[in-house]
Order: sequence, then C-alpha cells, then structure tokens
Amino acid sequence: MELDPRPVQYKGLQWLLIFATLTPLANIVLYEWSKPLLNQLPYLASALLALTLWGLNRWSHQRKRFRLALPIDVQGLLLGLALSTVVAIRLSGADGEPAMPIFSAYIMFVFASVLGLHSADRALLLCIIPPTLVLLWPSGVLWWQELAVLAIALYLGLAARRQINLWMRMSQAQLRQNKRLLEKFRTLSNQDALTGLANRRYFDLRLEQSVNEAKRSKNALSLILLDVDYFKRYNDHFGHQAGDECLRIVAQIMRRSSRRQSDTLARLGGEEFVLLLPNTDKRGAQRLAEEIQSRLKDANLDHPESGIATRVTLSQGIAQWHPGLSGSALLHQADKAMYEAKLSGRNTINAA
Ligand code: GH3
Ligand code: MG
Ligand code: MG
Repeated sequence: MELDPRPVQYKGLQWLLIFATLTPLANIVLYEWSKPLLNQLPYLASALLALTLWGLNRWSHQRKRFRLALPIDVQGLLLGLALSTVVAIRLSGADGEPAMPIFSAYIMFVFASVLGLHSADRALLLCIIPPTLVLLWPSGVLWWQELAVLAIALYLGLAARRQINLWMRMSQAQLRQNKRLLEKFRTLSNQDALTGLANRRYFDLRLEQSVNEAKRSKNALSLILLDVDYFKRYNDHFGHQAGDECLRIVAQIMRRSSRRQSDTLARLGGEEFVLLLPNTDKRGAQRLAEEIQSRLKDANLDHPESGIATRVTLSQGIAQWHPGLSGSALLHQADKAMYEAKLSGRNTINAA
C-alpha cells in the first residue's frame, strides 16, 4: 500500500493559487490605486492567470479526485513567468519605477512552495527560471538582496520537500507495519492454535461460500468429517500432552492428502476434523478418505487401548451437497454418516 502524495499537492497548490490571485490585487490596492488602468493591467492579468489555473484544477479534480490540470511544476513555472513579466513591464514603463520588492519576494515564495510540494528534480529546474529572470533584470532592488532572497527561498523549498518526503516515508512504513499486523491477526483469528489448520470460525465461513458457489456453478461439493477413534482412551493412556502431539500428526497427515488449493481442512474441535471439497463428488471424496486412512495406517501411531486396532484410527463420514441443502444440513449429513461409521465398528469410511 503506497501513500498517495496527490491530495497534499492538490490542496497545497490550490492554496498557493488563491494566494497568487489575491497578492497582485493587493498590490493594486496598496500601490497602484490612483494610477491609470494601464498600470494595473499586468497585475490583473497575473491574478487572472492564477485564478484560471485554480479553476482548471478544480474542474479536473471534480472529474477525477486530486488530478491537476497541469503538472504542479509547470503551473509554478507559468505563475513565475507571469509574475516576472509583470515586473519587467513595470520596469520598462515610462516612469521607470523600480519593481516592487514585495513582488520579487513573492516570486520566490511561489518558487519555494512549488519546490516543496513537488518531489521531482525537474521542479527545481523549472522553478529557478522566473527568479533568475527577476534577478537578471536591472531593478531597483540590489542584486545581492535578490540573491539573498533566492537563497532563502531555495533553502525553504528544499527543506520543505525533505520534510514532506520524510513524513511520507514514515507514514508509509507505519502503513506497511499496520498491514502486516492486520494480516497476522487475520490469520490467527482463522487458525486453530494446536494444529495450525483452519478453525471452526473459518470453516463456517468457507462452508457458506462454497455452498453459494456450488449453487451458482452447479459443480459438485463434498464434505468429509473425520473423528479419531477412542481418543479419550489415548489420552488416558499416554497423557494429554501426548494426545496433543498425536492430533498434530494426524492433522499433518490430512494436510498432506488434501492437495487442492480450493480444499479447506479445519479442526472442528476436540479430535474432530473436516475436509470441505469444492468441485469434488462423493467418489472423489471417498478416494481422498481412503488415502488418509492408508497414510494413517502407514504412520502406525501406537494406540494399545484402542480395542479395534493397535494404532490410531479414524472414522470418516462423507456427504455430497445437492440443490436445496444448506451448509449446516450438509455438515449434519456428514456427521450422521460418521456416526454410522462408528456404529459399524470404527476405522471405516461411510458415505451418506
Ligand atoms: P469415539 O471413537 O466414539 O470418537 O471415542 P472418543 O474417545 O474419541 O470420543 P469422545 O468424544 O468420548 O472423547 C473425545 C476425547 O478427545 C475427549 C478428550 O480427552 C479428547 N480431546 C478433545 N480435545 C482434545 C485436545 O485438544 N487435546 C487432547 N489431547 N485431547 C483432546
Ligand atoms: Mg473420537
Ligand atoms: Mg468426537
């Protein structure tokens, strides 16, 4: 997830443009009020340019959020050039008045702001043009004073840019960390702590989704319920801790048998597990159940108290979804099939 700099740039530039509209007008009010309209025209034109850019940006933003009508540094260049032109026109006037110092300082302000908002180095090149023009123009302001203002503006612009970039990077790191934590919590809340398989909560979610998907696609959907036989005796004989270890191994065996990405293997609770198999019919489920049974046989986990074998065994119930059956009804059918597998002597697979 990347932080988007566009809102900051959009809002920053729009404020700058409002300022760029008001400043020439203020200049008229303060210095040019009593003079002929011709003297006021350059200021009015520059205010109009800023207002137009502001309006175009707003229009662009309304069509697509935070999109600017023109790149920020290009707008900065246009503003700077307009302001430099004002200064030039004023200087070449018949009265030969010196440029308003407030105006050249203002150009520097535009320069610094654009530089602060824009992270590309191209902005530096574009921004330096108008202040240089002002600097080169023979004005009433001393050249070293202009140079000092330019240096200050350059420093402010670069410092602002560095600070903005730093904040962006910090926020980005924070965002990434939050995302990682969220992912971790999400996994943990869907996971069974003992076996690492999905938990009941996640299974219920997937069951509902899979039934809806089967309704839509008309594809098969099957479910296997697996219960360890005489597991209470296993605990009584080996202790609860060994029981936990046994459940982990049984879970591992099931995990190895279910290879499809779309399968969901979950621990429903206690020594009871479930395998949800989208795009699989009863026969496919039967084959998978047999594979688990055979792998468990190969693992040969000691269970001397079992009574039906000398090793750990499973009873499995299979059910296939058909239209009209809800998720919980499907689970119930598999549960009934599993119970019948228990009744028929355990260590067996029974399909509903
Ligand atoms: P059945 O063949 O009829 O399923 O007999 P069973 O003993 O397996 O079934 P029952 O439901 O009577 O007992 C389940 C036992 O599973 C009870 C408990 O000792 C054990 N069990 C349940 N959860 C855990 C667990 O998290 N860890 C361990 N070690 N044992 C558990
Ligand atoms: Mg059991
Ligand atoms: Mg049980």
